[in-house]
Amino acid sequence: MEPILVILGGSGSKIRNPEEREIYLGESLESGFLELKEGKEALSAVVKAVIVMEDAPCFNAGTGSVPNLLGEVEMDASVMTSEGLFGAVAAIRDVKNPIKVAMDVAVKTEHLMLAGDGAVRFARLMGHKKYDPLTDELKELYKEKKSSYYKDIDRMRSLYSLETVGAVAIDRFGGMAVALSTGGIMLHLPGRVGDTPIIGGGIYASQRGAIAATGHGEGIMRHMVAKRADDLLDKHNGEYAAEEVIKKVEADFGIIIVDRDGKVGVAYNTKYMCWGIKTEDYKKVQGA
Ligand code: ASP
Repeated sequence: MEPILVILGGSGSKIRNPEEREIYLGESLESGFLELKEGKEALSAVVKAVIVMEDAPCFNAGTGSVPNLLGEVEMDASVMTSEGLFGAVAAIRDVKNPIKVAMDVAVKTEHLMLAGDGAVRFARLMGHKKYDPLTDELKELYKEKKSSYYKDIDRMRSLYSLETVGAVAIDRFGGMAVALSTGGIMLHLPGRVGDTPIIGGGIYASQRGAIAATGHGEGIMRHMVAKRADDLLDKHNGEYAAEEVIKKVEADFGIIIVDRDGKVGVAYNTKYMCWGIKTEDYKKVQGA
């Protein structure tokens, strides 16, 4: 099987720093694809790809995550494989790479998801150091708008949101995996959990394919977007499944899929979606 890596860096109606994003998307593809090239499994490729984007301040995941209504960052992340391995963290704070903690949940516990304080405590136990992911840019914006943020919420949300990062891959053995990480939605209520760590919501993988979504989390969850796409993979390929869920589901979102035959689907109904793809001899990035 020819290895394939597809990544996403968010979808929405505004484009922030598309050139900067393209640089990091490129790095993310290189870093993740190297794993596949070296014969490693899809899971290590998607996690590597997501770490690069979590560390890049221009995406809403890890460093660069948007603050909630109290000015604090709460993040969601998850991983899943076609073999059924799953791990997630929800509303986790003060860690650099939520995706690494989600991996620890998947491989070192019998649970599927840890949330809030418990997730933070678990992260420390696993050796993830305390880290503040809020960037100066977002800190300033939050401070500036704090006194009037109730009336500015919609505008600020449209400026800074929906830049979840994710990756799907198929390795040379035909194994598939997905990883997804986000700071959620700008100025969300404290404790809000989006679609990113929800099995069948923003993330799903099975023997049929690996699926990741980005966009309005409440809409994605309500319509179980990733599971819906997986069901379509029973009789159709990844390209069809991606286009069909975009057509049928009423929510603002984008989706990436790689199916068991290596067929890729990329579709979105938002104005832009930031994404990239890499195979042995093909590479493409789209910053916006
Ligand atoms: N889906 C994410 C959420 O609602 C937001 C995003 O895609 O950036 O938490």
